[in-house]
Amino acid sequence: MAEDPSTSALTEPKLPGRTLWPRRIGRRLALGFGALVLLMLLVLSQVGWQLKMVSDVTQRFATGDMQRLLRVQALSILTEGVGSAMIRLMNAPRESRVMEYAEVDERNRRIDGIVESLINDLKDSGQEDTLQRLKASRTLYAQAFIATVDEVEADDLQAASRALNEQINPALKAMLTESNMLLSRERERIEGELEAVQSKFRKVTMWVGLISLLVVVLAAWLAWRTTRSVVGPLAQLELAARHIADGDYAVRVPSSSAQEVDRVGLALNTMAEAVAHRENQIVRLAYSDPLTGLPNRTALLTPAQEREDACNALVLMDLARLKVINETLGYATGDTLIKEIAVRASAVFQAATDSGLIGSHPVVARLSGGTFAAFFKAADRETVEILRERMELALTAPAVCGEHSVDLNLTYGFAQSTTHQPVNTLMRNAEVALHAAKRAASGFAWYSEAQEAARLGHLSLVSDLRLAVANSQLQMWLQPKYSLATGKAVGAEALVRWQHPTRGFVSPAEFVPFAEQTGYISMVTHWMLTQAVDTLARWAPVHPELSIAVNLSTRDLLDAGLAARIQGLLLAQDVNPKSLRLEITESGLMEDPARSVELLHSLRETGMPLSIDDFGTGYSSLAYLQKLPVNELKIDRSFVDGIDKSPASQRLMKTMIEMGHGLDMMVTAEGIETEAERSTIAALGCDVMQGYLASKPLFGAALQTWYEAL
Ligand code: C2E
Ligand code: MG
Ligand code: MG
Repeated sequence: MAEDPSTSALTEPKLPGRTLWPRRIGRRLALGFGALVLLMLLVLSQVGWQLKMVSDVTQRFATGDMQRLLRVQALSILTEGVGSAMIRLMNAPRESRVMEYAEVDERNRRIDGIVESLINDLKDSGQEDTLQRLKASRTLYAQAFIATVDEVEADDLQAASRALNEQINPALKAMLTESNMLLSRERERIEGELEAVQSKFRKVTMWVGLISLLVVVLAAWLAWRTTRSVVGPLAQLELAARHIADGDYAVRVPSSSAQEVDRVGLALNTMAEAVAHRENQIVRLAYSDPLTGLPNRTALLTPAQEREDACNALVLMDLARLKVINETLGYATGDTLIKEIAVRASAVFQAATDSGLIGSHPVVARLSGGTFAAFFKAADRETVEILRERMELALTAPAVCGEHSVDLNLTYGFAQSTTHQPVNTLMRNAEVALHAAKRAASGFAWYSEAQEAARLGHLSLVSDLRLAVANSQLQMWLQPKYSLATGKAVGAEALVRWQHPTRGFVSPAEFVPFAEQTGYISMVTHWMLTQAVDTLARWAPVHPELSIAVNLSTRDLLDAGLAARIQGLLLAQDVNPKSLRLEITESGLMEDPARSVELLHSLRETGMPLSIDDFGTGYSSLAYLQKLPVNELKIDRSFVDGIDKSPASQRLMKTMIEMGHGLDMMVTAEGIETEAERSTIAALGCDVMQGYLASKPLFGAALQTWYEAL
C-alpha cells in the first residue's frame, strides 16, 4: 500500500531546446512534414521544368533548326546541280531542250524558294549578310542564265559556253560558297545552342540532386528528432503505468517536451492519486468496522507477524441480549450500545497500555453484532483478570440512549498462551471459552484443555446415544408450569435426561447440541414424543387441562413427515392434540425462516399448540413473528435473572410481554428462582411461570407426588 506521501518522479528526461521547436507533437509533425512536402514540390517543379525544357529544345530542333539545316543543304546541292543541268541543256538537241529547260527552271525555282524562306527564317545578322550576298549572286546568275539561254536559242554554242564559263559558273560558284557558308554557320549555331542547353540541363540535374539530398537529410533529421521527443516521454509513461500496476502510487510522471505526452502524464498522475485514494478507502472498509471505526475480524485475523510475536492473549467480549434490545428498543439503541462498548473498551485497553499493565499496541476489534475481541500482550492470567475487572468497572454506568438507559453486560472468553500461538488459534480457543461461559452463565471463562477434551468427549458420547435410546437409558423429566394469575398448574415441559452407564448423568445441554449436529436428535425427539403422549393418555381422564410441552430441535424442522408421525402417535393413544405442545427455539426458527413457517403451519393444522422457546436469544424480527402460527412466547431465563433489581430489564420484559400479547400469544417466563422475580414478572403482566421457585424438573416418585397433589 502506498502510504508514503512523498512522490517519486521518474528520472527527468533531457529536454530538447524549446526555442522554435513546438511543444505539441501534432505541430512538430505538421512542421516536419510541411517542410518535406515543400522541398518535394520544389524538386518536382525542377524536374518538370527540366522535362519541359528538353521537350522544347527537341521540338525546336526537330521543327526549326533541322528543317533549316536541311534546306541550306538542299540549296548547296541544288546550286551544284544547276551547273551540270546547264551543260546538259547546251548539249541537248533542240527537240529535247524543252525538258532540260524545265529541269533547270525547276531547280531555279526551288533555289529561289529556299532563298526566300531562309530570308524569312534567319534572324542572325551574319546569316542575313550571307543571304544578301547569295541573293546578289543569284541575281547575277539569273542575268547570266537569260543571256546564255539567248545564245543557246541563237544556236551560238561557242558564245553560250563562254557565257556559261564566264558568267554562270562564277555566279553559281559564289552562290555555292555562300550557301556552304550558311550551312557551316547554321551547324555551328545549332551545336552552340545544344551545348548551352546541355549545360543548363546538367546544372538543373545537379540542383535537383542537391535538393533531393537535402530532403533526405531533413526527413531523416525530422524523423529522428520527432521519434526521440515522443518515444522518450512515452517510455516514461509506460514505466509509470507499470509502477502504478505494481501498486506504487507515489510514482509521478515528470513533465516532458511534448504537450500531448504531458497531458497523458498528468492524467496518469491524477489516476495514480485517485487509485491510491480509493485503494486506501477499500482497505479501510475491508479492515475496519464502519459502526465503531474499530478494526474488524479480517483485520484481526490477517496475519501480521510482528503483532503475533508481540501479543499472546485474546479476550472475546460478547454483549448480552443485543438482539432483544434491537427488537424492543430499536436498532439505533443497539448501535449506541455497541459504540459505547467500543469507546469504553478502547479506553480501558489504552489506559492499561499507558500504565504498562499490558504490552503496547493492543488491538481492540469488533467481530460481529455485539462481539468484540482484544488481542494484546499479557504477562499472566492475573493481568487478564485485572483487565476484566476494569472493563466491568467501565461498564457500571448504564448507556444512555435517548430516554432509555440500558445496562451493559458482557460475557468474556479468555485465551492466553505462554508459547507462541497464532491469532487464529487463540481466537478459536477464546470462542470455546466464551461458549463455555455462556453455557455456565458464569460471566467469563478461561479456555482450557479440558474444554477441548470435553468437546471431543461429546463426539464419542453422541455415538453412544443410539444405544441409549435402544437400551432405555433416557428419561423424560417434567418441569411444571403455573399460571401467574390463578397459581394453578397448567402443564409441564418435558426435559430429557440421560443416565449414561459409565459417565453417569449427562445433561441435555451437553449432548443435545451434538445430537443435533449428527442428526441423532430425531431419535431422541421421537422417544420423548412417545413418552409425552403416553403420559398425557394417563393424565387425560383426571386432568385433561394439563398439557405437556416437548422440545423440537432445528433438525426436526427439516423433517417433512414429522406432523403426520405425531398425529399417528396421538391417534394411537386417543390423546387430544391440544394437550401436546411443541417448543421450538427462536434461533432454530431463524436458520431457515421460510421453511420453518411452512412446517409450523403443517404442525399447527393438526391442532397442536406451538411455543417459541428461549425468546430473546435469537434474531427474529417482529414482522417474522407475526407470520408464525404460534401461541406461546417463552422468554429466556437470562431476562428473568435479577429482574427485580434492574429497571432496564423490567422495561425490556414489559416490552416483550406487550409484544407477545399484541400478537395474541400467551407469555411464559422461564427460570424464575426467587419470589422477588416472580412478583416482578407477575406485575409486568406475564401469564405463566416456569422455574426452580415453583418446581425443579421432576421424575419418578417426585413426579407422582406432584401429580397426586394437584
Ligand atoms: P429449555 O427448553 O429452555 O429448557 C429449560 C431449561 O431451563 C431446562 O434445562 C431446565 O431444567 C432449566 N430451568 C428451568 N427452571 C430453571 C431455573 O429456575 N433456574 C435455572 N437455572 N434453570 C432452570 P435443561 O433440562 O438442562 O435443558 C436445557 C436445554 O436442553 C433446554 O432448554 C432445551 O433447549 C434442551 N432440551 C432439553 N430436553 C430436550 C429434548 O428432549 N429435546 C430437545 N431437542 N432439546 C431438549
Ligand atoms: Mg424448552
Ligand atoms: Mg427455554
